[in-house]
Amino acid sequence: MGFFSGCMDARSMTSIKEVKCPKCSADIEVFVRDGKTVGESVCDNCGYMIKENQIAQL
Ligand SMILES: [Zn+2]
Repeated sequence: MGFFSGCMDARSMTSIKEVKCPKCSADIEVFVRDGKTVGESVCDNCGYMIKENQIAQL
């Protein structure tokens, strides 16, 4: 535990979600705030980049 403390302030409304890579279907962890991605996340498997401000759908 403790992962969500510190920089992960609950008041920021930022959470981590796993989305499916559209390219290879691997799970990618993205930061989500208000239903949109924050920052860029890269698929560990194929290198696909999810850019900022994408709508996060699960
Ligand atoms: Zn991928």
